[in-house]
Amino acid sequence: MPERLGYIGLGIMGGGMVHNLLRAGHEVTVWNRTPSKAEALASAGAKVAASPAEVADAADLVMMCVSDTPDVQAVVLGPDGVLDGLEGGELVVDHSTISPTATRELADAVAAKGASWIDAPVSGGSEGAQRGTLSIMIGGTDADVARARPFLEAYGSAITHVGDIGAGQTVKLVNQILVVVNQLAASEALLFAKAAGLDLHAALDAVKGGAAGSWMLSNRGPQMIADDWRPGFTIDLQQKDLRLVLEAASELGFPTIATSLVHQLYLTLQSEGLGSEGNHALVKALENLSGVHLSD
Ligand code: NAP
Repeated sequence: MPERLGYIGLGIMGGGMVHNLLRAGHEVTVWNRTPSKAEALASAGAKVAASPAEVADAADLVMMCVSDTPDVQAVVLGPDGVLDGLEGGELVVDHSTISPTATRELADAVAAKGASWIDAPVSGGSEGAQRGTLSIMIGGTDADVARARPFLEAYGSAITHVGDIGAGQTVKLVNQILVVVNQLAASEALLFAKAAGLDLHAALDAVKGGAAGSWMLSNRGPQMIADDWRPGFTIDLQQKDLRLVLEAASELGFPTIATSLVHQLYLTLQSEGLGSEGNHALVKALENLSGVHLSD
């Protein structure tokens, strides 16, 4: 019998992933806290459940993508949560970016009901969710990853099994250190170019294909020059992920000098009310400190 799919959390990322599951011909039962977000998916063929427990009851693979650690805990452990709908044998696939430690605790709670868990956070932004080109980093057993893989291929183009339960979340934190430190480098470099009176487009074109190039520089550099702060990923969500990095590093006793600096710089922007801008607005914190502005 084919695996029955369930999906909880139909935000920017979850909504795109479910569209791709439906396009690939899978049947999916969905739930979202704000019911209106399920309407477009219902029109596209999804069945809508009344609670996370109902999704778990209707599904063999229970996928989810919600915001933060307490939100996954609420959806799984809370009233009418996933745990209430498990009968044994299900696989829970968590695409949210949350704490690796909490992930292992959630996996234990699910295991006590005879089900299993993989943590499968994603990278690639809203564009990746819509186009089905996400990178997915997975923690879990070989058997559970193999069970999920055919379905993850509907929206993931790079699916990497990185270790045991929790390792997927930890690799996602590695990803986030790289994202923000690249962002800091791109911000400082473009502002320096501005201070030196260079043509910013020419400077960017000259360096982006060489050893200094990065996804952040190529994709967000032009947006920064154009004064375009629309988010691929908001400062508020970025700060959630940096908090997870700092907590995990603290548990390890590992110093995170560059990440801590970026976290503080983003805090200054949040206190200015800029938390809903894209994470590339980091350059505004350096503009405030240097008095140099890209748009002048
Ligand atoms: P989003 O658009 O804000 O969607 C968040 C989803 O979580 C919504 O469906 C929301 O329900 C649900 N939710 C939040 N708290 C909940 C709770 N306590 N109970 C039930 N449902 C709850 O966010 P997103 O961009 O899709 O991000 C989701 C996850 O993917 C986050 O962990 C994020 O870090 C990660 N991620 C995002 C990106 C990106 O570029 N956006 C990239 C990689 C990873 P409502 O509709 O009711 O609010």
